[in-house]
Amino acid sequence: MAITIENALIIMSVLMFIVLILIFITGNNKKTCIVREIYSLGTLNQIKVYGKNAEKAVKESIEKLCEIDNKMSSFKEHSEISKINKQAGIKPQIVSKDTFYVIQKAIKYCSLSRGAFDITIGPVVSLWGIGKEGARIPAINEINETLKIVNYKNVVIDKNNSSIFLENEKQKIDVGGIAKGYAADELRNIILKNGIKSALINLGGNILVVGTKEDGTPWNVGIQDPLKMRGEFALTISVINKSVVTSGNYERYFYKDCKRYHHIINPSTGYPSESEIISATIISDYSIDGDGLSTGVYIMGIHNAIKLIEGIKGVDAIFITKSKEVYVTTGIRENFTLTNDEFVYKNGIYEEM
Ligand code: ADP
Ligand code: MG
Repeated sequence: MAITIENALIIMSVLMFIVLILIFITGNNKKTCIVREIYSLGTLNQIKVYGKNAEKAVKESIEKLCEIDNKMSSFKEHSEISKINKQAGIKPQIVSKDTFYVIQKAIKYCSLSRGAFDITIGPVVSLWGIGKEGARIPAINEINETLKIVNYKNVVIDKNNSSIFLENEKQKIDVGGIAKGYAADELRNIILKNGIKSALINLGGNILVVGTKEDGTPWNVGIQDPLKMRGEFALTISVINKSVVTSGNYERYFYKDCKRYHHIINPSTGYPSESEIISATIISDYSIDGDGLSTGVYIMGIHNAIKLIEGIKGVDAIFITKSKEVYVTTGIRENFTLTNDEFVYKNGIYEEM
């Protein structure tokens, strides 16, 4: 066929049309990735969202974080938690649905850990001042006196009018050990509502992954080597749609006479936990469960911790001990990789004991 000018024009028009369609399709498929950092809930948070509505999802997430902080911070004078604490021993305080839910969940984990996790430990934590200027070892009588007002069983919750009451006037509750978990779950709801399929929420080291990575493969979450600098991992786990929360002795601490005093306080002694565990990671569907469990199991000791976690459906754990042993519960054994060969993988300790 002879190529006439007319034919050439038709072919060029068709080609241009195809090119335009291709540009349109690839342009539409181009994923946006938005990363934001914000200081809230007493820590640095990072939200990374992929997809068309990423900007909107991140904006709504930040608003939610601030709302939770305003309600649940122990440091804000007008927060609901501060109001509960001011009314201690006087009268119940009516609170919003979310604060009530967080306290109710916290009490559940106080009870499951048999008081190892205790949301009334705040006054003892304040004595030590760990992580603040002027951190010190309190006198033994100071510790013992303050321990008298530590008892989560004195937190009276009333579903009928959504109120919270502390029975002892000197008591204080602090939901700092569990509010980040709740916040991460709420952020996931916002992200999913915006039609997003892939996101990474990092609230001060509490990780919640939404879906898979953008390329469809699982997320790899690094677990901090508790004996090394921040950012050096002992192992990684491969997860989709999971919360990964770690409590570790390396988070906040001070030294006195060459001994390290860290921020996780054993409510039965008033001193930093001395169990063989130095890092406890909980892998769960909901971050409130991970956050509520990680501090308690850290204190409980390896035997009781494994026993407790193996008994909770859908929840798994990884424990690292002082002697560099790594214990992994049944449900996560196929999904982890030791990345530092100084650590020794131990399996099935609980069955052996
Ligand atoms: P993060 O503060 O990063 O959530 P953890 O989950 O390990 O870290 O919680 C430790 C914090 O919880 C401490 O800084 C302290 O304020 C508080 N805390 C310490 N010991 C206990 C305990 N036995 N029960 C409840 N909260 C505790
Ligand atoms: Mg926590």
